Amino acid sequence: MKASTFDIVIAGGGLVGASCALALGRRGVRTALITADAGLLATTQAGDWDARIYAVSPASMRFLRNIGVWSRLDVQRIAPCTRMEIFGDRDGAHLAFDAYEAGTTALAYMLESRALAAAIDEALQSVACVVRRGPVVGLNRDAGGADVVLASGESLRCALLVGADGAASGVRELAGMQAQRHDYASHAVVANFSIGKPHRGCACQWFRGADVLALLPLPGNRISMVWSAHEAEAHRLLALAESALADAVAEASGGRLGRLELVTPARSFPLARLHVADPVAERVVLIGDAAHVVHPLAGQGVNLGFGDAMALAEVITERGPILDPGAMALLRRYRRRRAEPILAMLAMTHGLHGLFALPGGLPRFFRNTGLNLLRRVPVVRSMLARQAMS
Ligand SMILES: Cc1cc2nc3c(=O)[nH]c(=O)nc-3n(C[C@H](O)[C@H](O)[C@H](O)COP(=O)(O)OP(=O)(O)OC[C@H]3O[C@@H](n4cnc5c(N)ncnc54)[C@H](O)[C@@H]3O)c2cc1C
Repeated sequence: MKASTFDIVIAGGGLVGASCALALGRRGVRTALITADAGLLATTQAGDWDARIYAVSPASMRFLRNIGVWSRLDVQRIAPCTRMEIFGDRDGAHLAFDAYEAGTTALAYMLESRALAAAIDEALQSVACVVRRGPVVGLNRDAGGADVVLASGESLRCALLVGADGAASGVRELAGMQAQRHDYASHAVVANFSIGKPHRGCACQWFRGADVLALLPLPGNRISMVWSAHEAEAHRLLALAESALADAVAEASGGRLGRLELVTPARSFPLARLHVADPVAERVVLIGDAAHVVHPLAGQGVNLGFGDAMALAEVITERGPILDPGAMALLRRYRRRRAEPILAMLAMTHGLHGLFALPGGLPRFFRNTGLNLLRRVPVVRSMLARQAMS
């Protein structure tokens, strides 16, 4: 193989691309990370809570611990979630998962996006990973490798280009890889509130037809809200005065957390489903949102992306006699390893959303009866909890 400047070039310095660069850099792989913007360098100031909160699964937590990120996070700003409660759109329909019942200490860990980005960025300083400012504007591939052209005119030679450049991936386009996209015509409105009654580490989710309201525990007397709502309703929520929004959330959650007060202004994100049936092509692999975007109702998008980053780093560094880190045999190995979890998550989130979006009394009866039946079968409950945690 013609000598490459880098083994791996990663386009996209979001959480997934940067964590992948870190995982590879720590294992001695010659890696370059291309960021399109200041990306990871934002830091969290004390008292200023990021409206973007992630529910990080225990499996992702272990990955972050193994790549030296978890220990850099401020534990005072992480909230373990020990219980989840899901409410249907009919009185009394209810399902709960408990960490104790699932034999674990936490079902997920709630933490701020900026804090996580800052910790990954700090850890990246300790590995030999070259960072360049993007975006990627050109890609030329041949049997021996790929030339990745940056807007600055610089060209980086590598064995494999990893597209971790998000849902609107430019790498995907340059490589001619097809994505299926479904627009939910909805937005997720996110905000943080202080609460009048303790959350006791419980994350709650209310299905309200096609809309979903989630209240996630934050450290102390705070919660993070993700309210996925149809465009018109999302715009209405965003236009409300602070106290009116707090009242609307308190009412929609049945007053469970007492009086709410807004502590971080509301923001919104458009919601879509995206799937690239084949995330690998000659000298290219897509990971994270560049390959799959799921509805946030399960809080699993970045967890899926961390799973991709971990699997790719393992496949590349544990490649045995294969010398070329961009060999198609390795990419196929990666694709096989990730196919099932990605398809399962896409089907689960899309299916649940579709099930609750169905109008009419009969679908409502069946979905709520289903929730109640699940509640009565502890084995199924703990199986679902374990699935969510992995
Ligand atoms: C409201 C909401 C709540 C969510 N909550 C959760 C949750 O609780 N748990 C969870 O697991 N997931 C959650 N998600 C999903 C999660 O936000 C995404 O899955 C995750 O951010 C994807 O990360 P990424 O690094 O793949 O992509 P991105 O975050 O989109 O990063 C892509 C990066 O690539 C850069 N880039 C773009 N184009 C180029 C280019 N041409 N060249 C170089 N760089 C480029 C961008 O600037 C960016 O930095 C949520 C999503 C939403 C909308």
